Amino acid sequence: MILFLLFMWWPTGAGQDVGRSCILVSIGGKNIMLDCGMHMGYNDERRFPDFTYITQSGTLNDHLDCVIISHFHLDHCGCLPYMTEMVGYDGPIYMTHPTKAICPILLEDYRKITVDRKGESQATFFTSQMIKDCMKKVVPVNLHQTVQVVILNIPQVDDELEIKAYYAGHVLGAAMFLIKVGSESVVYTGDYNMTPDRHLGAAWIDKCRPDLLITESTYATTIRDSKRCRERDFLKKVHETIEKGGKVLIPVFALGRAQELCILLETFWERMNIKAPIYFSTGLTEKANNYYRLFITWTNQKIRKTFVKRNMFEFKHIKAFDRSYIDNPGPMVVFATPGMLHAGLSLQVFKKWAPDSKNMVIMPGYCVAGTVGHKILNGIRKIEFENKKVLEVRMAVEYMSFSAHADAQGIMQLIRYCEPRNVMLVHGEGQKMDFLSKKITQEFGVQCFFPANGETVTIETNPNIPVDASLNLLKREASLTGPPDPKRPRVLHGALIMKENSLRLVSPSQAMRELGLKEHEIRFTSTVTIHDPQPSQGTVERLCTHLKGTLKDHSIQHMPDGSIMIDSVLIKVSGSSEEEETKDFLVSWPYEDEDLGSQLMTLLRKGLPRTVEA
Ligand SMILES: [Zn+2]
Repeated sequence: MILFLLFMWWPTGAGQDVGRSCILVSIGGKNIMLDCGMHMGYNDERRFPDFTYITQSGTLNDHLDCVIISHFHLDHCGCLPYMTEMVGYDGPIYMTHPTKAICPILLEDYRKITVDRKGESQATFFTSQMIKDCMKKVVPVNLHQTVQVVILNIPQVDDELEIKAYYAGHVLGAAMFLIKVGSESVVYTGDYNMTPDRHLGAAWIDKCRPDLLITESTYATTIRDSKRCRERDFLKKVHETIEKGGKVLIPVFALGRAQELCILLETFWERMNIKAPIYFSTGLTEKANNYYRLFITWTNQKIRKTFVKRNMFEFKHIKAFDRSYIDNPGPMVVFATPGMLHAGLSLQVFKKWAPDSKNMVIMPGYCVAGTVGHKILNGIRKIEFENKKVLEVRMAVEYMSFSAHADAQGIMQLIRYCEPRNVMLVHGEGQKMDFLSKKITQEFGVQCFFPANGETVTIETNPNIPVDASLNLLKREASLTGPPDPKRPRVLHGALIMKENSLRLVSPSQAMRELGLKEHEIRFTSTVTIHDPQPSQGTVERLCTHLKGTLKDHSIQHMPDGSIMIDSVLIKVSGSSEEEETKDFLVSWPYEDEDLGSQLMTLLRKGLPRTVEA
């Protein structure tokens, strides 16, 4: 059986472009959507995937068995309300409990920035109510819990399709998913990291040997330097800027890296007795704290212990930020959302501070193409905004890879964990994926794909199909070859009967009896012409004697109708005209006696011996 993979077609997605995930998988006749992300680099309808790719007529309900969301980042879930409420989908949606809790906050935050602040028409974007209605359709899942997918509109589970979530690290609630249909399976990683950080653990998965592992490859080739080294580097850069009297902007996602970097700076400020203020943009932080407390089991051991004594996210040196502080003189550090500088407070602060070369912006995560964050990381120092105003960037731009993605080593490690039969790289850049795929094929000897947007990949699988064998057939087999031995599988021949979704292997005769069929025998027939002027009666007799003399091990019979039977091979003289000098011999044999058939053909072609002794 075969497994298809379709990538959602995005209007102007060039090749393997990073930034939003939406993958369609067909496995064992089930269609599953993996993530439903938004492209953060666009401000128009191009930010959403084109669902007409799935179906041009009819509803998504008819074409999708379920949707799985890996984590709350908008490039993985941002399109969900659009899909369910505006395009129309009522089928099951699965995500972990923390993702279900946090996802609507980020969606609402993004909606506010887009619709309320920028005044984008409500008609093209989802409303707050749509986010709520969408979240009602979500079925939350626990880690390591095998969930049978509910069939749409029937209060009954689909016993063929099941999913299981595994811890992925990355951000609170992030999960990898194992999807199984019969004996075929796929693992989808979403974003993950294989090394624990200050607040989350490392990703882990069973040795589940899926037919396909779909892994993100954001940091496909960067074997990042040790964590400690990166942290020291980060603190040094922040410290130097502060000493010079400069300001440091750190754009962050509301949850995840922000907490980790806060913990890091707090400890450093305490140790170095630094007086410059550190601010964190409020609003989301408070909620973030609550969620960490609520989903404490999803964090790492250290945080769990600390939380018992005090709130890990209450900081002595880090205070709430107020917009009016932007113009304050003197050094300061500001954590502000969103992380890619595409809107909101972080962009506002950036615009103010960018022209001053004393200042610094530290991008701690990966940025999507089209965002301001992506532009400055690619060395662009003149940025044009919608109002045609050009911003000159003189501040230092630093990139510190704190974003918790697996690097090449981590990806290899995950492959070692779960031992997939095929690997597919997504969410990465073309050249890097090309390099890594070669490495994977070399080291593990498995096929590795990295399809472009809109491309379909087909993967061959070897599904196990259970078949009931009839007792008679087994007994006969045992009598011929001895009792069965589990260590030595052997081939069993029979007729396969498919009836009412069950498969049975029986003997051909039983199959014929059951189905009321008659046996048809296929025979091969060929003609040989021999020069022999005698009447055909004599010819047959001479041939019979000749064969008896040549083929001693076979039963040769001269039949009353004038034909000759050699075992199951039949020879007949055609053309009854007595006067003819040549005779046509028709030779016919069944498939099983093909060797004898061709032996007789060769014999006849040599002709009859001149004199045959009677
Ligand atoms: Zn992510």
